[in-house]
Order: sequence, then C-alpha cells, then structure tokens
Amino acid sequence: MELEIAFDNSYARLPGRLFMRQAPVPVRAPELLLLNLGLAEELGLDATQLKSPEGLGILAGNAVPKGAEPLAQAYAGHQFGGFSPVLGDGRAILLGEVIDRQGARRDIQLKGSGLTAFSRPGSDGRAPLGAVIREFIISEAMYALGIPTTRSLAAVATGEHVRREAMLPGGVLTRVAASHIRVGSFQFFAARGDTEALQALLDHSIERHFPDADGPLGFLDAVIARQAKLVAQWLGVGFIHGVMNTDNIAISGETIDFGPCAFMDVFHPGTVFSSIDHQGRYAYMRQPEILAWNLAQLASALLPLMGEPEDAALEAAQAAVERYADRMRAEWAAEFARKLGLQKLEDGDANLAADLLERMAAEGADFTNTFRALATGRARDEFTDPLAFDQWEENWRARLAREPEPEGLTARLKQANPAVIPRNHRVEQAIAAAMQGDLSVATRLIGALARPFGDLPEDLADLARPPLENERVQRTFCGT
Ligand code: AMP
Ligand code: MG
Repeated sequence: MELEIAFDNSYARLPGRLFMRQAPVPVRAPELLLLNLGLAEELGLDATQLKSPEGLGILAGNAVPKGAEPLAQAYAGHQFGGFSPVLGDGRAILLGEVIDRQGARRDIQLKGSGLTAFSRPGSDGRAPLGAVIREFIISEAMYALGIPTTRSLAAVATGEHVRREAMLPGGVLTRVAASHIRVGSFQFFAARGDTEALQALLDHSIERHFPDADGPLGFLDAVIARQAKLVAQWLGVGFIHGVMNTDNIAISGETIDFGPCAFMDVFHPGTVFSSIDHQGRYAYMRQPEILAWNLAQLASALLPLMGEPEDAALEAAQAAVERYADRMRAEWAAEFARKLGLQKLEDGDANLAADLLERMAAEGADFTNTFRALATGRARDEFTDPLAFDQWEENWRARLAREPEPEGLTARLKQANPAVIPRNHRVEQAIAAAMQGDLSVATRLIGALARPFGDLPEDLADLARPPLENERVQRTFCGT
C-alpha cells in the first residue's frame, strides 16, 4: 500500500521570497536506525509503512512523498552577538506540514538532507550520525519532561561519510515542529527592508501560533511569554541550550536546534559545555539574560510593522521587552517553587530556592538527584557537607508548614523533579555503541527517558547515577 501523508503546506503558499524550493539530495544506502512510534501515531502516519522501503526512502530524502512541497526557509540571525543577514536552511528541507490527530499543524523537516542555496560556503549540507542520534535522544527526553520542543520522528544512517574533525558516518533526522519560524526569520526581511514579506510572515505566524494576538505588539508579547516560560523550564531541569543565537529561537516557544546542548550533572550556575562558547556567553544562568537580548532583536525586527509615529512604536516595543524581566523572574520563581513542592507562591520562595542552589553549587551537589531526593528525604547525601543542606531544610520545612494543602507532597515533588535526564556520558555511550552498530544502548536510554518522573526500576537505576570522574564529558560539539 502506498504511504499517504496528508500534507497541507501553508508556508509554501507564502510569498516566494520566504524560501527556496529545493528537493532533498538522495543518499547512498539509507538504513532506518530509530523510529518514534508514538510520534508517528500522533501524526497519523502508519509505522509499518514508514519502515517499508518506500517509507525509508522518504525519511532519507531519496524520495519526495506525494503532496510534499520541499523547500529551504530563509532566515538571518545573530550568532554569538554578530549579525549574519543570510543563514537559512543550509542542511535542512521542509517537506511540508500535516495536521496531527489533535488538530495541530506540524512541520515535517529533514535535517542533514543535502546542499541548498543557503548552505554555508564550503559545507556539505549533511549531518553526522552522532549529532542526529544526539538530537533524537535529547529532544524526546525534553518532550517527556513536559518541555515544549521540536520532536524526532526518525534517525536514518545514510551509508555515506561526512568530513568533520574526522570522516564520520552521516545521518538524516526527521524533525517535527510546530513550525520552524525563528526570530531570525523576521530579521532576514527586516534587514533587507522587505516590509511586505515581513508582514506576510507576521500574519502567518499570528494565525498559526497566536490567533488571539493583536498585531506586532501583541505577537511580541505572546512570544515573550512563551519564551520566558520555556527558559524557566530549561533552568528547572538543568538544561543548557548552548547556542541561543537568534536563528535558534523558535517563535512557537519550542526548544529547537539541539547542537551542543547538555544537561548539568553537578550544579554550577556558570556551567558551559559547548566547545565553541569560549566566553561562556550561553552559560546555564545567563540564558534568561541572553533571551532578553534575543527578544530585543525580535522587537527591533518588528518595528517597521508597528506603524507611525516611530518613537511611539519604539517605546512600546521597549516596554514589552522591559516587562520581560519581571515575567522571567515570575516564571523562574514558579518553576522552582514547584520543584520545592510549593503550591501557593509566597514572596520569599524565590530566595528559598536560590539559597538551595547556592548551597548546591558550594557543595558539589548533583542538580537532578538533589531535587529528586527531596521526595525521599535523602537530599542531604548529595552534599559534601550535609549540614549545609540540613540548615536549608529547616527553612524549607517551616515554609511547607504554611502550605494550605500539605498532603501529597511526595507525589508533587516527584512530578516536578525527574529521576532521570539524558546525562552527557550516557548520551555519549549510546552514540558510541550506535556507531558500532549496537542500538540497544540508545533504545534502553530512550525508553527510560520516556518516563522521567516515575521511580526508576532497579535494572535502569544506573541511568540516574552521575558520571564517574573518568566518564565526565567536559565539552559538547555542534556536530554540524
Ligand atoms: P546552526 O549552527 O546549526 O544553527 O547553523 C547555522 C547556519 O549554518 C545555518 O544557516 C545552517 O543551515 C548552516 N549550516 C550548518 N551546518 C551546515 C552544513 N553541514 N552544511 C550546510 N550548511 C550548514
Ligand atoms: Mg540553527
């Protein structure tokens, strides 16, 4: 039976300057390594058909399915603070959009699918298989953690090699997203003074993501709200995105572009893993401030649509960005109060959480395990000096005593604090094994990460263990 995908490609109907039509470039010997059955089901796709030679051909970019209108999207972006007026999909192809079983519009994109008009000069449009598997594992973990994110439908090995620091096996990821519209998409048209395309992109974005938003300012406010919440959620699980460039910030509020991202083991606010982030620009605790900067870029790109008088528009946009700081603080406080089992926020709660984090940093406590152990009463064991925790715990207990609904604390704590996250060393082990043709390590990890809030069964308990000294991963790579 032929594989039917009911495409409805709204982006391809926008003015042609927003993209370049481009089919994926076929690969030599595709092999399906990972397929996300749950996501396939959500999308209304038949898993058996996806696994068939015809399905594999589509997931590899060797065949374009009926109804697809493959294209590379144009976008610009500030990368590490410097503006690049032309980035765009240099190694990704949007096949098209489908309406999922919940009625939500989802992009289906191939990443690592060959050269496009936007490819970085001298590059290959491809992705190393290791990076593909990494994105699969981490994005699906994010999803299970309840954090808005692009998803991974499939990982395919291409049977070809890509030249990076060495010759590496190549891969293609099928990425599914609410959309791939980025802050940088707006910057692309603002930078060239193309107000018409900018307006078309704004109208499309509002209709698609924020149907209640009123004009550019309403849109800006809505994006700010989603992004502030998203970054608070990242902080709540110890996630460091690693490359918060404006081209990697989706206006939908989904986490996108899993390059050198990583989860912290031992808590330290200055943690950086990315091998290219020499200044610590995108360190764990700097993410809210970087987001503010990115949102200011969005505000500035939207200015031409805000009408006259220019000063009034500028002031309104500035005010929206300034309100962000309060919103971010509130989201952070709400996220961490939840992690402490608190239901009704009080003024001192943010300080209580900040105090715990400070002690964790000073005492080398593991981020995930300390919070999880609040539920089991074993958190003090995570501290070099357990007394540092005991002092804090007294304050916490005093605060908990004021909770209106004290019952269910343990369940609440477990629901807010995962037992398992994709620790770097486990992700690396899964990738290393996959490179040797053994996918069992990855599938075991993916299986455990799909249920992060339950108690880990005995046979998966090793996945919660922080890395030993010799397992510790110091640096992560973009893998582009
Ligand atoms: P990223 O660092 O993944 O956010 O990508 C930044 C820009 O470089 C985007 O325009 C990408 O499409 C482009 N790019 C990254 N890797 C490649 C590659 N292997 N081939 C072509 N273009 C790439
Ligand atoms: Mg990017």
